[in-house]
Amino acid sequence: MNTERMRSLGEKRSVIRELFEYGNRRKAEIGAENVFDFSIGNPSVPAPKEFSEKLCRMIAEENPLALHSYTSAPGDFSARKAVADNLNRRFGTSFCPENLYMTCGAAASLTISLSAVVNDGEEVILFAPFFPEYTVFVETAGGKPVVVPCEWPDFQIDFEKLAEAITEKTAAVIINSPNNPSGAVFSEECIKKLSAMLSEAEEKSGRKIYLISDEPYRELVYGGIEVPFVTKYYNDTIICYSWSKSLSLPGERIGYILVSPENPDWKAVYAGICGTGRALGFVCAPSLFQKIIPECIEMTSDISVYERNRDLLYGALSGMGFEAVHPDGAFYLFVKSPEPDANAFSEKAKKYEILVVPSDDFGMEGFVRISYCVSTEQIERSIPSFKKLAEEYSL
Ligand code: PLP
Repeated sequence: MNTERMRSLGEKRSVIRELFEYGNRRKAEIGAENVFDFSIGNPSVPAPKEFSEKLCRMIAEENPLALHSYTSAPGDFSARKAVADNLNRRFGTSFCPENLYMTCGAAASLTISLSAVVNDGEEVILFAPFFPEYTVFVETAGGKPVVVPCEWPDFQIDFEKLAEAITEKTAAVIINSPNNPSGAVFSEECIKKLSAMLSEAEEKSGRKIYLISDEPYRELVYGGIEVPFVTKYYNDTIICYSWSKSLSLPGERIGYILVSPENPDWKAVYAGICGTGRALGFVCAPSLFQKIIPECIEMTSDISVYERNRDLLYGALSGMGFEAVHPDGAFYLFVKSPEPDANAFSEKAKKYEILVVPSDDFGMEGFVRISYCVSTEQIERSIPSFKKLAEEYSL
């Protein structure tokens, strides 16, 4: 760790946060209903009613000492068993609780996994656009981020660029599908090709390349799209999951790491995960939320609201002449800036009280991210303002 780096990370607010704070100030000035805040990815659909009822019942009826006690460091056995059984049923896999490590959400899953498989100075490939914290997580693990852009307009992997990016120092590749910020979902063909390329590189170098699949949006897909389950295609896979989005529990900090048992060395990797969890103090994820997992493993929030928002927003903006990636999942729309500088576009949008995030921090210039995890009514009311913005650019 480097104290200067930590200070500067603490002092520098992300563009998303800046915009979110600006939105709050603006809402206080002109009224919340007059600000079209699309800055942040907080779920707008509550956790299912059944979930809240079960949680209340657990708190009311169970022994509080047992309910709030420490679990084992990698997590409560029944939570891990429920996750393994659920994945096995859905994806025809044969995971066991020993393949799983419970965490405080996907962010913790990623920091633990990266520190467990990346040595100082090794490279980690990121596909742009990507969740901005990836660079922070990779650098904290001692790694060096190597960015490979995805291809416009479907945002699948650019395999020529990937081939150029893989070196003897590549330790891991992070994928995030459905993607924040593009909403793109990697197709089965794309995952197969990626797996083949990584396997070939592993064979050539005799070194492992871990595929870290960051999946907080796995269940948020629309129109019957399937998200390929990565362990079926590539043995050296680590899955980082959280219930932040699928159950609308971002503040509760609950997720897991799955080390694929298809990797013959999985026990060593899992030991590294446990060791990193220990070294970073990420042991025993929140007990209450671990203990409710077996009760709610089959539930998701009402995803249909996001699908309706997607259709409305994508349809309206495309109709006005904006170009956007068609989002098959997550709750973000990635729109091409009508001028080369997306920061200038985001500033202009503020004139119409529209808050959208410029894409530079996502590792790609020239786009803005619109988070449509807002009320459908906000989207409807924002459409005349988007129209004025489109007119300003003569779209
Ligand atoms: N990965 C991606 C792609 C995300 O969008 C987010 C949160 O928005 C995270 C990881 C972090 O998720 P969590 O809240 O579960 O830590």
